[in-house]
Amino acid sequence: MKFNARAKDIPLSATLALDARAKELIAEGRDVINMTAGEPDFDAPAAVRDASRAFVDSGKVRYTPAPGRPSLRETIAGHLSRTRGVPFEAKEVTVCHSAKHALSGVILSLVSEGDEVLLLLPAWVSYFEMVRFAGGEPVAVPCRPDLGPDLEAIAAAVTENTRGIMINSPCNPSGYCFTSEEMKALCELCEERDLWILSDEIYSRMIYDGTKHESPVTYGEDARKRTIIVDGASKAFAMTGYRIGYLAAPPEISGVVGKLHSQLTGAPNAISQEAFECALAEEPAEVSDMVTEFDRRRELVVKGLSDLGLPCELPKGAFYVFPDVSAHLDESGSMGFCERLLEEAEVASVPGSAFGTEGHVRLSYALGEAQLIEALERLGRFLNAR
Ligand code: PMP
Ligand code: GLU
Repeated sequence: MKFNARAKDIPLSATLALDARAKELIAEGRDVINMTAGEPDFDAPAAVRDASRAFVDSGKVRYTPAPGRPSLRETIAGHLSRTRGVPFEAKEVTVCHSAKHALSGVILSLVSEGDEVLLLLPAWVSYFEMVRFAGGEPVAVPCRPDLGPDLEAIAAAVTENTRGIMINSPCNPSGYCFTSEEMKALCELCEERDLWILSDEIYSRMIYDGTKHESPVTYGEDARKRTIIVDGASKAFAMTGYRIGYLAAPPEISGVVGKLHSQLTGAPNAISQEAFECALAEEPAEVSDMVTEFDRRRELVVKGLSDLGLPCELPKGAFYVFPDVSAHLDESGSMGFCERLLEEAEVASVPGSAFGTEGHVRLSYALGEAQLIEALERLGRFLNAR
């Protein structure tokens, strides 16, 4: 069979592949603690489940317009206006099958052969492949030692072929959140060099210590016009399996992505649209309880890692920690470390190399407290045995 080379050569998503491997081992009866999971270990809120059920029972599960049903686009525009503090209109919103679908749609719409796109390390696994699949070149920009954005390195990475930058605050895998100064400086640079900003804000509801969520759209009219926000239901509402997300951008951009999706994928799942509209209309009480619980676990895991002597920045958002394990690596790097950790200690994790950042591993704390404590004990025994 002759394949499209870009499709044939695309690697499996490392996060999904490692999660699947951990689940396989668990199904075989192994006592694996799965810290790969990029999904909340909570159920979708009760009101969301009720709304989905009632919608199915209504029998009216039909196609909606390809960019989403008007009432949901309106609700998302209202939600963004409230949470980001600048007005959004429904025509700027394109509802997608997931945040991943929104990101890929934007990249396929904006990136042409040979275009360079800046990715800030550590960068989420799929960004690299989405840009490559579109024919573009992902340019990885190193971060500061505290895993924050290095504005000088970003400026130095811009060439005449650079078209845009992808940012992710709070960051998967590091949990780092942009400060206001950093966001302002980034927006200024993008204006100066005429770059679009693809702002993946999927973890914006999972933010701790009173940290303010920063979005480029609040940094003036110019930044607002060159920014595409991507968000969705997966993380904030523990609705990963619903597969629903969106992008919001000036109609010129959201319209092109909407057209593309009308040909490639069609309207998003109508049940999930109903469920998402319910979640956004009034935030279910379960959401703040979940965020409070993540916050508690974050403190527990970071303290546990520091007791084991593993340097780890206290993440301000998301539900991952990204400790520095460089003192424990051999030539097999973070991938070898994760493989041994899984084989010898039955703790599944994701190597920093998957995020373009050697020397670290990503551990998700979307697990119950007892499992987190057990995982830390196993990690301690594993490190001591070496
Ligand atoms: N962006 C980041 C940074 C993520 O971690 C995820 C999680 N899978 C996504 C986007 C995609 O979310 P989803 O496709 O579940 O909406
Ligand atoms: N975002 C999650 C993660 O990083 C889910 C997996 C994925 O979609 O790749 O683990």
